[in-house]
Amino acid sequence: MVFDYSALPREFKRRYLPQRISFDWEGLNGIFEELKRRPLGSAAELERWLSDEAELDAYVYEQRAVRYFNSTRQTDNPEYTKAYEEYTEILEPRIKLANFELLKKYQSSRSRAQLPKQNYGLEDRRRQSAFSIFREANVNLEKDESTLSQQYFRTMAAMTVTYRGQERTLQQMSRFFEEPDRAVREEAWRLAGRRALADSDALDSIYTKLVALRDKIARNAGFDNYRDYIFVKKDRFDYAPRDCEEFHRGVEEAIVPLSRDIDRARAERMGVDVLQPWDMVVDPAGKPPLRPFEEISGLVSGAGKVLSKVDDELSSYYESMVRLELLDLESRKGKAPGGYQEELAEVRYPFIFMNATGKDDDVRTLLHESGHSFHTFLMRKVGVPFFNGNANMPMEFAEVASMSMEMITGDHYEGAFYSGNDAKRSNWKEFVDNVKLFAWVATIDAFQHWVYTHPVHTTDERARAWVSTFNRFCGLESFEGLESSRAYRWQRQLHLFEVPFYYIEYGIALTGALGIWSRYRNAPRDAIEAYKNALALGCARPLPELFEAAGVEWGFGPGALRRIAGDLRSAIKEYSE
Ligand SMILES: [Zn+2]
Repeated sequence: MVFDYSALPREFKRRYLPQRISFDWEGLNGIFEELKRRPLGSAAELERWLSDEAELDAYVYEQRAVRYFNSTRQTDNPEYTKAYEEYTEILEPRIKLANFELLKKYQSSRSRAQLPKQNYGLEDRRRQSAFSIFREANVNLEKDESTLSQQYFRTMAAMTVTYRGQERTLQQMSRFFEEPDRAVREEAWRLAGRRALADSDALDSIYTKLVALRDKIARNAGFDNYRDYIFVKKDRFDYAPRDCEEFHRGVEEAIVPLSRDIDRARAERMGVDVLQPWDMVVDPAGKPPLRPFEEISGLVSGAGKVLSKVDDELSSYYESMVRLELLDLESRKGKAPGGYQEELAEVRYPFIFMNATGKDDDVRTLLHESGHSFHTFLMRKVGVPFFNGNANMPMEFAEVASMSMEMITGDHYEGAFYSGNDAKRSNWKEFVDNVKLFAWVATIDAFQHWVYTHPVHTTDERARAWVSTFNRFCGLESFEGLESSRAYRWQRQLHLFEVPFYYIEYGIALTGALGIWSRYRNAPRDAIEAYKNALALGCARPLPELFEAAGVEWGFGPGALRRIAGDLRSAIKEYSE
């Protein structure tokens, strides 16, 4: 099943790149060299140069994406795996170095100052920042970092258990946590927990190496610690570590009490004195899990129905994805786990990948990824070339586009996926999940702040720091007798290994998404217009302006979280049966 996108409409013609390029170093080197040699006298020449460079970026991004699609759609085809690995191992490091040469050229160009600020100001700041922290020595350390991350993935992928006569991954085991029978849930939970613990030393050792490596990368770049380095690396111009600490405090004060009230109600409904970790995702009234569709075609048409009630333009984008076969939704053998939306940067079409099996979560995932794809469609309207594309989009706003779509669509599930009380049940779950997500984001983020500002620590000290962070934000489930499962729970959060400090973005985005949702309920037309206008800005504006354009306030401190906790509390009450 090779991904054939040759039939997609090509509305954005190349102005600079040759029609045929071979995607290897021979093919690319000449183009990089030409850009490097070209004189940049005037602002007009610099603008043209930036636009040509953006064309090259889009080409590389698209070629990488196609290799990635193929390798995830068919992990059992060694050719696809090889093609993607060749890109990451051989081509990508060369492209990084060549890009740095172009960055140096840009930095030393005197015409920089004459570029119009409105269009180029933020991009200029991003480049300035990337230039200031680039160290050639770190390119190799980053390669070591990705080798260690792959070790993490291999260790996790090999974690299977045999349950009811079948070998299953820990992810597959999680469906048993939704079983109404408590004994089944406990058995499944304990089995998965024991298997995870068997590798805790190996994972500890991978993480220790990663922390040391990252500390070194930061010091090479002239920083005291990796936390301060990553804030610069991730272009976090609009907030600082102390704002994250305020977010943690806000979650502790406003969200954690709500989360514990939800758990108290759950225990009462379930008729248990003490909630166990295997009691947390089952339907508290003992109902079987929601089943929104039987066949994939039901998921595709259901989402179409829902979106047609939200907005004609957005709905037409979705329908064009269906028509152009840009959705790969069903779970099948050989497919990688998870879900994502990626962009084909030259043709500027999105592609959605996921593993649907007929669960309520699948509906939310498709509508979430559709929100990302609307971003890709709406960014087609952006004129300045390097502002297009997911590559530069700050995740703090990208996730607003997707998370708000998850919630906005919830009120239209009746008739498309559910009848009777089931749409309400699905929405109740969505908003309870949002409360739990805020708490989990604070946990993961606060833990990372500790880890990287205490780069020298023993594994025992780390486990203690984790447990005290966990206890600060957790619900009411008891870990009595399960202490080691709690102490190593962080090891199952892949972000800690693969994409350090990438997590607070979900918390920030959730504040914006909830703002759009609550506006949509009062004034749906206004909310959707603002949503579309904000997405169409691409990444040319700073985060506070993107939030403002979407009609929501920028801010994720204790005050904002108190207001949000109030909204969440009433939504959960409204959707309770
Ligand atoms: Zn997302």
